[in-house]
Amino acid sequence: MRIVITGKPGSGKGTQARLLSQKFGLEHLSSGEILRREISEGTPLGKKVEEYVRRGEIGPGELIARAVLNHMEKKGAGGNYVLDGFPRTLQQAGELDRKFPPSVCILLSVPNEAVISRLSGRMNCPRCGAVYQSGLSEKNTNSRCDQCGAILVRRKDDTPESINRRLEVFRKDMTPVIDFYRESGRLAEVDGTTPPEDVHIQIAGLL
Ligand code: AMP
Repeated sequence: MRIVITGKPGSGKGTQARLLSQKFGLEHLSSGEILRREISEGTPLGKKVEEYVRRGEIGPGELIARAVLNHMEKKGAGGNYVLDGFPRTLQQAGELDRKFPPSVCILLSVPNEAVISRLSGRMNCPRCGAVYQSGLSEKNTNSRCDQCGAILVRRKDDTPESINRRLEVFRKDMTPVIDFYRESGRLAEVDGTTPPEDVHIQIAGLL
């Protein structure tokens, strides 16, 4: 099963990708997480992309595509994957199709107001990637991840300025990518406004 999961920032891509990876035994790759790790380790790629990620911009898309595809190859994920955050441009979609063509692209639809409110309150686990809405989970009053115990952090790009930029980048760059998957009969649109477990059931029902 080769799945691309896409949607606006805060639409729940990471959460849904994790649930799909657990249910179907798929390799989960998040380009954002790959880049954040490169940045925190201070690698040459991390240094090149740091400023773009902070501002919510795409940056060197080709370089990022190469890094993500190499990562997939290394992990042996070519045949069985769920990709979140990649592709972000038509060129990246073309490169993915040449190497490991996805069978479906799932688009999580959530209005702007809802994602802005989600992103303004979210906390992230830097170790396992779990996402929490601050103040919503009683378990998380101590700000530790329920799943792995790491201290939760706010993403550096979850600022009002960067959120607006990322929404604009999504509208501009992802519209042609979504059209590309729609025209090739591989797009499935899902309502992303319901609770995560319900969204997961909708997606699993489509596959
Ligand atoms: P995400 O975790 O998917 O929200 O991505 C966080 C940030 O990483 C984005 O705002 C971009 O700056 C960068 N990024 C993630 N995936 C890509 C990609 N496929 N191409 C270019 N930049 C990316």
